Amino acid sequence: ESSGRPGAGADPLTVLHEVYGYDAFRGEQAAIVEQVVGGGDAVVLMPTGGGKSVTYQVPALVREGTGLVVSPLIALMHDQVEALIANGVRAAFLNSTQTSPERADVERAYLSGELDLLYVAPERLNLSQTTALLQRGRLSVIAIDEAHCVSQWGHDFRPDYLALGDLGERFPGVPRMALTATATRETHRELTERLHLPEAKHFVASFDRPNIQYRIEPKVDARRQLVQFIRTMPEGSAGIVYALSRKSVDATAEYLRGQGIDALAYHAGLDAAVRARHQSRFLRDDGVVMVATIAFGMGIDKPDVRFVAHIDLPKSVEGYYQETGRAGRDGEPSVAWMAYGLGDVVQQRRLIDASEGDRTFKTRLGQHLDAMLALCETVGCRRQNLLGYFGQASEPCGNCDTCLQAPETWDGLVPAQKLLSTIVRLQRERGQAYGAGHLIDILRGASTERIVRFGHDKLATYGIGADLSDQDWRSVVRQLLARGILVATGEYGTLALGEAAGGVLRGDTDVPLRRDVLGRGGSRSSGQA
Ligand code: ADP
Ligand code: ZN
Repeated sequence: ESSGRPGAGADPLTVLHEVYGYDAFRGEQAAIVEQVVGGGDAVVLMPTGGGKSVTYQVPALVREGTGLVVSPLIALMHDQVEALIANGVRAAFLNSTQTSPERADVERAYLSGELDLLYVAPERLNLSQTTALLQRGRLSVIAIDEAHCVSQWGHDFRPDYLALGDLGERFPGVPRMALTATATRETHRELTERLHLPEAKHFVASFDRPNIQYRIEPKVDARRQLVQFIRTMPEGSAGIVYALSRKSVDATAEYLRGQGIDALAYHAGLDAAVRARHQSRFLRDDGVVMVATIAFGMGIDKPDVRFVAHIDLPKSVEGYYQETGRAGRDGEPSVAWMAYGLGDVVQQRRLIDASEGDRTFKTRLGQHLDAMLALCETVGCRRQNLLGYFGQASEPCGNCDTCLQAPETWDGLVPAQKLLSTIVRLQRERGQAYGAGHLIDILRGASTERIVRFGHDKLATYGIGADLSDQDWRSVVRQLLARGILVATGEYGTLALGEAAGGVLRGDTDVPLRRDVLGRGGSRSSGQA
């Protein structure tokens, strides 16, 4: 031992002081470390920024041998290892970006007991020669990071994780940990089962991020609303804007720059060099706004991100939570803002319909989307809804948009009936189905070319919804979709009756709807939703 740090057998708190310079363990860190140092397995569910790294690194330093960290984030291994080395920890990684001599060096260091921590990608760990190598040396602990990747229903599924279930047999007697920031009951159960951790002690931290304010508003003109939102933030705030497509990322970044905002684009279609340059500007400079696809952010450790904005609807509440969780890791007030519209709902349904996978799989994706829509359309506290989704009960937060300004509700039964009966008539009388735009035109009594051509001005329901604006109708459709009263199907998002439509048509279901509130300075003028 010549590294000058406390070695194997040292007291965990001493290691925490001397290696990391932290005063004390935070939250459940001490209990987790104790469990693993004592040789037990652990399942750790802790939000991003909660401090998971310490919980496997300290046991690795305290126990005899090398701590093995399984991580899918190959791109980050280099930086993670550099940071550890800078703290005097003997760390290395094994992955496909290395040359054979580089790998041979790491293997030699491992076998001669010179490594405290070894990072490895799951696909490499699953090679029989890697297992054989590791068996010849000594492991102190095995930490499976991003453990939710083993869940086939999750948004980050990695087939290589499935083979990690037999690590207990490959390395008997070595304590194992599974760590993730995704915490639905379903993922929790699934990862415990698939990673074979029946004896593990479970540590579930609170998922509340009290310094993040949640705001969700209906989409009218996403880019303009985004600029208005960014202008409500303190000058020079760093932020991340998530968009679904590369095209939209590029266009949005350009639009923001045109508005004098220091915005950069990040997506997989950009040159690696450009991506690296944008990422390092975002990390180093103040007040950069990164417009990105969800490819950006996993593992990015920038504590002072002041806002995360979504201009397209995330596929699931887990995804939304992970992405918004990148705001405010320093604990300072931050905002999670989103604009979403009818078009998002239709588009997501279309993506689900078109996805590979059997019925059960699509049903699961549909349930994820429904939960996301319920969060968007709730008249209650956003945070309460979000935490409730993760199985954690809480009081209204007093800080989200709905807490600050209770949404006005109105009785949507009659408009819902008008819309449903228009759909039913078109179906029964003419065998036709249409998307929201045309149905709204019929209800509002518009005389478009299509209406005239199809003779839809002769329908009994033509013009019976003229009392509501186009925007109001879009809000009605969105909310009916969110509640399963309507379903959008097919490539064109044609609307059909959902399971809950019967009660509405009979008039024995209440349909309280939320009145749309646009952000400060928002306008109800243009019709694009
Ligand atoms: P996670 O992996 O759960 O997202 P990290 O392990 O990256 O979280 O930790 C998040 C931040 O909290 C880091 O900046 C880390 O330095 C800091 N941190 C973790 N544990 C402690 C502690 N006990 N005391 C002070 N800071 C801590
Ligand atoms: Zn609230």
